[in-house]
Amino acid sequence: MRPVPEPTPSLWADQAGPPRARPPLDRATSVDVAVVGAGLTGLWTAYYLARAEPSLEVLVVESEHAGFGASGRNGGWASALFPVGAAALARSHGEPAAQSLRAAMRATVREIGEVCRVEGIDADYRLGGTLAVARGRAQMTRARAQAAQAAGWGDAVELLDQEAARGRLAASGVVGATFTPDCARVQPARLVRGLADAVEARGVRIVEHTRALALEPGRVRTDRGTVRARHVVRATEAWTATLPGSRRDVVPVYSLMIATEPLPPQAWDAIGLRHGQTFTDHRHLVIYGQRTADDRLAFGGRGAPYHWGSAIDPAFDHEPAVFAALERTLLELFPVLAGTRITHRWGGPLGVARDWHATVGLDRRTGMAWAGGYVGDGVSTTNLAGRTLADLLTGRDTTLTRLPWVGHASRAWETEPLRWLGINAGLRAMTLADIEERLTGRPSVVARVMSPFLGH
Ligand SMILES: Cc1cc2nc3c(=O)[nH]c(=O)nc-3n(C[C@H](O)[C@H](O)[C@H](O)COP(=O)(O)OP(=O)(O)OC[C@H]3O[C@@H](n4cnc5c(N)ncnc54)[C@H](O)[C@@H]3O)c2cc1C
Repeated sequence: MRPVPEPTPSLWADQAGPPRARPPLDRATSVDVAVVGAGLTGLWTAYYLARAEPSLEVLVVESEHAGFGASGRNGGWASALFPVGAAALARSHGEPAAQSLRAAMRATVREIGEVCRVEGIDADYRLGGTLAVARGRAQMTRARAQAAQAAGWGDAVELLDQEAARGRLAASGVVGATFTPDCARVQPARLVRGLADAVEARGVRIVEHTRALALEPGRVRTDRGTVRARHVVRATEAWTATLPGSRRDVVPVYSLMIATEPLPPQAWDAIGLRHGQTFTDHRHLVIYGQRTADDRLAFGGRGAPYHWGSAIDPAFDHEPAVFAALERTLLELFPVLAGTRITHRWGGPLGVARDWHATVGLDRRTGMAWAGGYVGDGVSTTNLAGRTLADLLTGRDTTLTRLPWVGHASRAWETEPLRWLGINAGLRAMTLADIEERLTGRPSVVARVMSPFLGH
């Protein structure tokens, strides 16, 4: 039997060193805006609020430390992806609205680079694009369809033949690829911690080790006293499922990652990935990777089980069977990695709404605001959310506040046991769909049948 790997901190936290400690809330207080959650959603919101109206008193309340959640642990793709595709957005919100959202997402990728530059955040930001290889006929069919549709939405997606694809990423079994320039690689922990520092430099107060127990109109009740505020922003993503009144808004789904030791130049010559490009393939059960600034491969994927009752626990960040599957997949993609040491294994929960539709909004009647449900596309989308919330909270009517995800309400997730059964069946179906496609070479029937339950 394989030995169970020891839990490790994420590569990103290891590289960034111990987080800067900030004191908890020490007494009941009153502010203009109370933001709950110091991940990217909460911090981008505070950042753009402070920029727009420096006189506003903004307090960010965090139960652990800034960047503790998915924002400090993710795959580091600052992409233009939104969890709902453009065609589906057009069906529910109309074509012009879908076009506006696509344009806003593309611009967001560059906006993050601009903030890093202006604020001096050293997050290894590099705008290198994303390569999605097709490994097999069924994946190539999807690659072609994606490239054909993209142009209609203003998305630059280039279809590469086998030779061109292999020239950029020599993964095994590659028959072609799509490439989009609209993605940057980042070091997630450095991005979120740098942003926390930038936010504080602009006069925002962040309190750590302070747990919000209830978010209510006009106040946040915490385990360290009550914060009164004209506006309350919920920025808790996966943990939203632990808050009273929001338990069925999103489900926590785990994504897990591994990282190799730094690879020698010969390995990179064989793999071929240039710096700055992120990569994936066109399978159903999402995988994602990046070449890090120090020449490692950081690689992740879904497939970890959903836990009964939307439970979140640090123990769920470590799933030996998923780590082993990720290692197998990485080696299958790049046989040159045989014998390479895996130095880090980690994971975290992300948030998925019932229709997979991210949302941002403000209820003007109650002063309660929110953003989340990004699935695995939150690194950039949180930035768009932060700018949008800043506009909403300062009463501005802008192109951002008119985007179709503003005010979107997803229906609630089912109660247990249906939720547990449905989500885990969905995860299993995606694995089966990939096996089916490998065997038949045709787009999966399982995936088509299950698509209404998987949100796409
Ligand atoms: C392993 C992994 C890989 C991913 N890869 C990518 C990727 O490559 N690209 C991409 O775009 N997206 C990716 N994602 C998703 C992305 O990281 C998230 O969508 C994004 O970081 C969400 O940011 P957030 O601020 O909304 O939530 P989080 O970063 O999760 O922050 C929520 C914060 O709220 C705090 N909190 C929770 N409850 C309370 C409470 N009661 N009181 C006070 N504070 C509270 C938490 O401690 C946490 O700090 C990945 C996610 C994971 C887990």
